[in-house]
Amino acid sequence: MDLNNLEKVLASEPKYRLKQAREAIFKSFISNWDEATFFSKDLREKLNAECPLKINAEVLVSKEEDSVKAKITLKDDLQIESVLMRHKDGRNTVCVSCQVGCPLGCLFCATGKMGFKRNLTTDEILEQVILFERLCKVTNVTFMGMGEPFLNYDNVLKAVKILNDKDFFNIGARSISISTAGIIEGIEKLIKEGMSREAGSRVAGQINLAISLHAPNDKLRSQLMPINKKYPLAEVLKAVDDYIKKTKRKVMFEYVLIDGVNDSEKCAKELAGIMRKKLYFVNLILYNPTGTFRQSSTKQVEKFKKILEKEKINFVQRYRFGDDIQAACGQFATNK
Ligand code: SAH
Ligand code: SF4
Repeated sequence: MDLNNLEKVLASEPKYRLKQAREAIFKSFISNWDEATFFSKDLREKLNAECPLKINAEVLVSKEEDSVKAKITLKDDLQIESVLMRHKDGRNTVCVSCQVGCPLGCLFCATGKMGFKRNLTTDEILEQVILFERLCKVTNVTFMGMGEPFLNYDNVLKAVKILNDKDFFNIGARSISISTAGIIEGIEKLIKEGMSREAGSRVAGQINLAISLHAPNDKLRSQLMPINKKYPLAEVLKAVDDYIKKTKRKVMFEYVLIDGVNDSEKCAKELAGIMRKKLYFVNLILYNPTGTFRQSSTKQVEKFKKILEKEKINFVQRYRFGDDIQAACGQFATNK
């Protein structure tokens, strides 16, 4: 798919043609300009040649058919992955990538291991949702695929606004989530934007924010997530508290349980100590194999949860989708 020439091709047409074209792409989700019968045959042919809508993707369906992974090849031959999760309650969530690779190199994450290639454009982010919209109605979008959203803030927020726009995808702000490894400037920008009265900015203050925590203290967190040396825990939490104060939104803290690394009773107690705050929620995630660590035993996971319960911490354990097709959290990686 390549929309770079869209305005150029339609430049000699009346203005409303561009709006029609954008609606055909981002609202009706056509996959070929031949479906845009409101355009002349000549124009459709020209659009097919200069603004192709075909998405170059390899698609894998999980055994239980509740998740679908797409490996998309971009114009410069680099590849990204996105996943559709079909929930039993009817929600269809797409987990999108925002970068090819990731520069932050968290030890447990397959994307981190591949290094950083480049940021995705807004269209490349939206293309991932369009691919699945062509299969079913997408109800939720999470920025939890490859890459760090707040290192590609502008393109990510532009995509969020188009996803939310009633004239386009029409996905509710509260059904859109961004997860960050704790880039403080990004949290601050999101707060500022959410407070702004500018048209289209309100969505920033209403989306869901998730923080990849994974350790209850700086020593361990810096070992697992090198970015913690630049943005230590206390400062990240301070930014989160400010976000909560200003937006009144709850914040999710993701904690991947890794055998013998961060799953001890001591870690659980320490975690409870920093998470006992209003509007803080912990999301426990089982470690998905990426070659370095082992998953915590069921017994240890239960012990960990017992402590959080006793300490009255709000938490849920995330349902795991698609681990048989390497489509679970942290398993997104491509070799191009
Ligand atoms: N860069 C952002 C967005 C990616 S989200 C961030 O880190 O928040 C991907 C989520 O999956 C994050 O919570 C990440 O910490 C988690 N994750 C990474 N590797 C994982 C693994 N091996 N098993 C389970 N979850 C993992
Ligand atoms: Fe990047 Fe997030 Fe993976 Fe860390 S967990 S390497 S920040 S994608």
